[in-house]
Amino acid sequence: MSDFSMVLHGGAGTILKEDMTPELESAYFNALQIALDAGYGVLEQGGTAVNAIKAAIVILEDNVLFNAGRGAVFTKKGVQEMDAAIMDGSDLSAGAVAGVRNVRNPIMLATEVMRNSNHVFLSGKGANDFAIKQGIKLEPDEYFYSAFRYDQWKAIRDSDNYSLDHTNHHLEELLRDKKFGTVGAVACDANGNIAAATSTGGMTNKKYGRIGDSPVIGCGTYANNKTCAISCTGHGEMFIRTVAAYDVSCLMEYKGLSLQEAMQEVVNKKLVNIGGEGGMIGVDAKGNHAMVLNSAGMYRAVRNSRGFNEVSIYK
Ligand code: ASP
Repeated sequence: MSDFSMVLHGGAGTILKEDMTPELESAYFNALQIALDAGYGVLEQGGTAVNAIKAAIVILEDNVLFNAGRGAVFTKKGVQEMDAAIMDGSDLSAGAVAGVRNVRNPIMLATEVMRNSNHVFLSGKGANDFAIKQGIKLEPDEYFYSAFRYDQWKAIRDSDNYSLDHTNHHLEELLRDKKFGTVGAVACDANGNIAAATSTGGMTNKKYGRIGDSPVIGCGTYANNKTCAISCTGHGEMFIRTVAAYDVSCLMEYKGLSLQEAMQEVVNKKLVNIGGEGGMIGVDAKGNHAMVLNSAGMYRAVRNSRGFNEVSIYK
């Protein structure tokens, strides 16, 4: 039996203590601890890493505070289109969905893709059809609504500067001012198997069917027992361009770096070099964990069988 550990994130970005009320701060702490304990509980009872991360992510998706499931951000058209992925490091099986609507828990759908389809990555209407076929729980549009995300979207949807041309600094600034809010989990179970999952509404006011890094295996999500399980959060385009999660794995496999060293290299050098704001969480198959960010904050939490428990927000 090996050490087991459970790590979560609830998004990274410009999260500053001075912008936070004590009530909101404690709401985030509580939400993270509840999800962390749910995942850890699965591990403690000898459950698998995959089941542990699923249990934690479902709780975060159901919580309106996070940009995943209920509370997901609004697209340009004023709806929620969600992305999610899960990967099992024991056999490299993976499932992902992009641009799904009305799915209560996109991580359940991604798991269904991993376990019960011949595919890895489904998108849009096809993914929704698969959800219906597999009996995945759906919810009406209103379920996903949150006043906070709506106001965030309203502030940029009609702005003169907005036209989603990629050099639009006004939009960039507005987005940077807000936390991102994606959720992710990685775990190492008592058998030394590791897994990673990420779920998100993507970025506010996204259009053209934009897909971020979260559901892209190797970019926002990756797991391999030989190296690490990683879940990322931040400005997705940069995490795709750096193939961030898989790069951590490669640095460990081919260069012999430790989990912490490899994550430092990717987050604080490679991503920083192209202006990629965000962070990531990781575990290896010995139950070691790391949480690295280059933004002002990242909602994050870790609990392991060595008796360590910590929830934090700021850098
Ligand atoms: N990485 C996500 C995306 O680009 C956003 C986030 O992490 O909050 O879709």
